[in-house]
Amino acid sequence: MSHRVVEIFKEISRIPRCSRHCERIAEWICDWASNNGFRCKRDSYGNVIVKVPATDGYENRGSYALQGHMDMVCVRAEGVEHDFSKDPIDIYEENGWLKAKGTTLGADDGVAIAIAMALSEDETKEHPELELVFTADEEIGLVGASHLERNFIKSKRLINIDSEKEGVFVVGCAGGEDIDISLPLRRQTRRFSRPLSITVSGLKGGHSGTEINSNRANAVKLLNEVLYRSFSSVELVHFSGGKARNAIPDFARAVVYTDSPNEIVEVAKKVENYARALFTGEDSINIEIKDEEASMDAVDRESFGKIVDLINKLPHGVYEMYDSETPKISNNLAIVNLDIDKFNLSTNQRSLTEDGLDKICLIIEDIANDFGCSVNRHSRYPAWTPDENSELVEDAKSLYFEMFSREPRTKVIHAGLECGIFASKLDSADMLSIGPDMEGIHSPDEKLNIESFIRVYEFVCELVKR
Ligand SMILES: [Zn+2]
Repeated sequence: MSHRVVEIFKEISRIPRCSRHCERIAEWICDWASNNGFRCKRDSYGNVIVKVPATDGYENRGSYALQGHMDMVCVRAEGVEHDFSKDPIDIYEENGWLKAKGTTLGADDGVAIAIAMALSEDETKEHPELELVFTADEEIGLVGASHLERNFIKSKRLINIDSEKEGVFVVGCAGGEDIDISLPLRRQTRRFSRPLSITVSGLKGGHSGTEINSNRANAVKLLNEVLYRSFSSVELVHFSGGKARNAIPDFARAVVYTDSPNEIVEVAKKVENYARALFTGEDSINIEIKDEEASMDAVDRESFGKIVDLINKLPHGVYEMYDSETPKISNNLAIVNLDIDKFNLSTNQRSLTEDGLDKICLIIEDIANDFGCSVNRHSRYPAWTPDENSELVEDAKSLYFEMFSREPRTKVIHAGLECGIFASKLDSADMLSIGPDMEGIHSPDEKLNIESFIRVYEFVCELVKR
């Protein structure tokens, strides 16, 4: 007989719950609640909250919120047939890990639901009042949490179970904001005759928060360097790069006219060599020049100069560090593309503090304004700034050591967590984010360590008694 928390996780895995489709899992949770005599409430967006009364002797203790998200990232391996809208996740065990056949496992974040339910339904466990808070659509931009009503959660202590390393307590996360920049431009009849494409590829790219300090190159910046160094010998026809705001651009491509193709090849070689030496986080930077078909007008000199200078001046990467491993403020120069009459650029800023976010956004806005661009700031979400005096974190650290004779680590992450949203919506909530050992999340290689899962469950059971 396997552990109840594992059994519940397997039951959850039978219910379709891709982002944007949380209805069935929400219903299932509320059915479970009513079978156990707990009150279940759903808000207008579809977030769920279950109220579990305190056990005898704990009525006067402060309540705890146990929180996770209901949706999962639905990805299948190449060639696998799986209909996420109806097929259960096909779970199996291998060497102490739970895995799924050909798809994501959904341990992110099914473990949160399983832990909260297993604790609540076990009549032998003592605890204060619990609020089980399950949000919808976390994976598509913390959407459910953003729709939560202010003070929907009453508890002063919140345990977010959405981290992926046991013994590492997440105590803060970055907020973020996006900026779209648009530079008007003119085109002119070309003077040079030979169309060439310049392609930057082979870069690692990666997550614009967690990998922004991994010394990786930005394909847009590298391509711009080639254009900058060969400026007088080329005319610009096409320029695009990057594909998502939250990904470091791993590919960029330009089309130019020139009368000096050899010079361009040489410049490209130089930039490639310098980039290979400079960006130690990369191992296969490639800048390629090829003949191209093109008949379009080129961008006029003045506009071309502005594009190149704008990209040169805009920052990319870490602006300030928080500690030796985590950035405090960063920016990702994420996407560029050249239209007929304008050049568009999108950036994504992150910061551990609201001030820091304002600061980096203002720097970018100022630069863009200097070039006469139109600027649109949007999609801001709040940071969860670490609270150095958190009693919950202190309690969790000492309890973890008592239970497992191992000193836990605290960590701040440079990516968004729902705790950031809660920090802005709850008056003075003490928060902590934890989770069992998981690997390969958001991919078909996702796996969950069973022993670690059970340990984290036992740990939560004890922590809510503090
Ligand atoms: Zn998650």
